[in-house]
Amino acid sequence: MIYLYQNPKINYTMAIKITEECINCGACEPECPNNAIYEGGVEWSISDGTTIKGEFALMDGTVVNAEDRFAPISVDIYYIVPNKCTECQGFHEEPQCAAVCPVDCCVPDEMYRETVEELMSKKEKLHV
Ligand code: SF4
Ligand code: SF4
Repeated sequence: MIYLYQNPKINYTMAIKITEECINCGACEPECPNNAIYEGGVEWSISDGTTIKGEFALMDGTVVNAEDRFAPISVDIYYIVPNKCTECQGFHEEPQCAAVCPVDCCVPDEMYRETVEELMSKKEKLHV
């Protein structure tokens, strides 16, 4: 499955989000190289599946402890943490969650636009 959400002229990509079409099959969760996908109702943490310890700056500049646990973004369906999603940059050629989702509900999120360079920088921050 090929995703064409990247605009080559401006080199921007969009984060991936999970829509309400999710059937909670769980196929996407183990495929994420950043542990950015969580089951609905489960608290998320920067340190889950990463090498980060101690202080970590979120995308909005808020500094948290990597081990802090945060409220689920969704309680009913699987969700993606934007602070951990690198759109698979640095690991795979396409978003793995979208590639395996049986109902195609992992889609570009227009709320989050990041350059490939920014995504690669995020990836380096998560896996030092
Ligand atoms: Fe994880 Fe990649 Fe999906 Fe982002 S696009 S949630 S990094 S599998
Ligand atoms: Fe939901 Fe798709 Fe993930 Fe299955 S693979 S849990 S349907 S987002």
